[in-house]
Amino acid sequence: MQETLQDYRNMKKIQLHWQILIAIILSVGFGLIFTEYVKYVTWMGDVFLRALRMIIVPLIFSSIVVGVTGIGSGKNLGRMGFKTILYYISTSVIAILTGLFLVNLIRPGIGAHFETANNGGGLDIIEKPIGETLINIIPENIIDALVRGDMLAIIFFAILFGFFATKVSESVRTTVDKSFKAIFEVMMKITMFVIKFTPIGIFGIVSGTVAEHSDNLLEVFGKMGIYMLTVAAALVIHSMITLPLIMKFIGKINPIKHLKGMSVPLLTAFSTSSSNATLPLTMEAVENNSGVSNKTSGFVLPLGATVNMDGTALYECVAVMFIAQAFGFELTLAQQAIVVLTALLASIGTAGVPMAGLVTIIIILQAVDLPLEGIALILAVDRPLDMLRTTVNVWSDSCGAVVIAKSEGEVLKV
Ligand code: ASP
Repeated sequence: MQETLQDYRNMKKIQLHWQILIAIILSVGFGLIFTEYVKYVTWMGDVFLRALRMIIVPLIFSSIVVGVTGIGSGKNLGRMGFKTILYYISTSVIAILTGLFLVNLIRPGIGAHFETANNGGGLDIIEKPIGETLINIIPENIIDALVRGDMLAIIFFAILFGFFATKVSESVRTTVDKSFKAIFEVMMKITMFVIKFTPIGIFGIVSGTVAEHSDNLLEVFGKMGIYMLTVAAALVIHSMITLPLIMKFIGKINPIKHLKGMSVPLLTAFSTSSSNATLPLTMEAVENNSGVSNKTSGFVLPLGATVNMDGTALYECVAVMFIAQAFGFELTLAQQAIVVLTALLASIGTAGVPMAGLVTIIIILQAVDLPLEGIALILAVDRPLDMLRTTVNVWSDSCGAVVIAKSEGEVLKV
């Protein structure tokens, strides 16, 4: 709890809403008026993207090891642990499929005609059979996988490492735990530091994009608008239809009553864009308003704030498909299956802090060999979508808490 409050204070320091908004307005103006000089500022965007890429491997590796050892060491919570993981994975997969369905239906990126510096980027994977991709999840050489940033292989090894770290003697386990926690915390600090430069990164990237597309700017804005609506619509379907149905039919819970009790944490999630910062309020509301025991909420919610991110998973899937569409790459069903799988893994590896989901999108882009410049496309509109997806992340955790409490025979207030 102490840590979470500290996180919250950190979050307060990087309230980026205004800076980002100003950066977007300035960069659009700069890109339109000083088109010829844009080449002198695009380096800022490149530096920012390089910094994001720099973070990703150590951040994800340590985050997954810490997460897996955390779950594995709660042995006494066996049955509840199993139910919780089952709930978290299945709701995240349903969320991703909802996003995938809508993005294929609406196709917001089609016709955006973005070009990538490395045009062959997406073609590799298109020719690679799914079987081969699955086999490649097992790295022949983990150091090589780390160097190449082969995300699926890295995640596979990290899960394995975390799992077996819980099977060794107590003293070794504690050492592994402590070391990776230390790496994770340092990486988080670096991430926060890099994220502070988002407005400058946005300025470099957006002014470059605006200058390049100055003749069809309205069309690009239109596409971005439709993309945002697609994400928002999928989030609404998942949070307002799917999760309430699960609560009603599996948990025999009144979703409206539960929603009313959750208003404070949901509004906090929306305004802070951080599941971690919201955690104390989520616990308070789930226990006092919905009547979940402290034993259940104390296990389900902190775990959920770290690994269960339905909103982020859905968002990442839609964003990657949008990028593929905008750059003109047609992903086959098999590749879309990889997007679903990696979106699930990436959301598990996403920390509950603002804009973390934007960093872990790199995992999916790399897994299906899409151009990383795609991030530049969605960067400018990430913040409002972050507010929405964080709200859904917190909402799903709380729904999990009541469903699991009910299945454990607890008498609830909802
Ligand atoms: N901001 C999100 C959260 O804290 C994570 C993300 O960026 O998707 O839940």
